Amino acid sequence: MALATIGLGANLGAPCENVERAIETLRELGVLTARSSLYRSAAWGKREQPEFINAVARIETALAPRALLASLQAIERRLGRVPGERWGPRAIDLDILLYDDLGFEDDALRIPHRELFERAFVLVPLAEIDASFEVWRDALPPVERATVERIVVPAE
Ligand code: ADP
Ligand code: MG
Repeated sequence: MALATIGLGANLGAPCENVERAIETLRELGVLTARSSLYRSAAWGKREQPEFINAVARIETALAPRALLASLQAIERRLGRVPGERWGPRAIDLDILLYDDLGFEDDALRIPHRELFERAFVLVPLAEIDASFEVWRDALPPVERATVERIVVPAE
């Protein structure tokens, strides 16, 4: 079994629901061991699009990295993602951020994810569930960290 860290993002349809449904669906791929809060962040790359909802989750999985990527892409399609522009609006985006301590790169898959140590919308939720990433989050420029806002879910 491996510990895989998955980054989730959405900015079309009902993005909060899409991310919550995707986290629940990750249970099909293994045991969900941790999940962050939802975070709201300004669109990155192509800015003239709705803000994103982001989160991070961890699963213990028996799937090898390529099989995990294929399963995540199948979930993206099931939850309504249609092929579109890179960095464009999407109903759900599921990326492999980390897979144990593996370093891997081919044409279709790079682990750790290329944006892991750069993006506030990844590092802020990741540091919530894994304190070893607080140092990376805290190294971000404050203006970037400030673009990511935790959505406080009211107690039931
Ligand atoms: P984005 O870069 O915004 O996540 P896509 O979700 O459309 O864009 O992904 C583009 C491609 O990135 C995928 O087809 C996939 O092969 C590749 N890719 C490379 N590394 C990873 C990774 N760690 N997790 C997910 N996709 C990856
Ligand atoms: Mg992706």
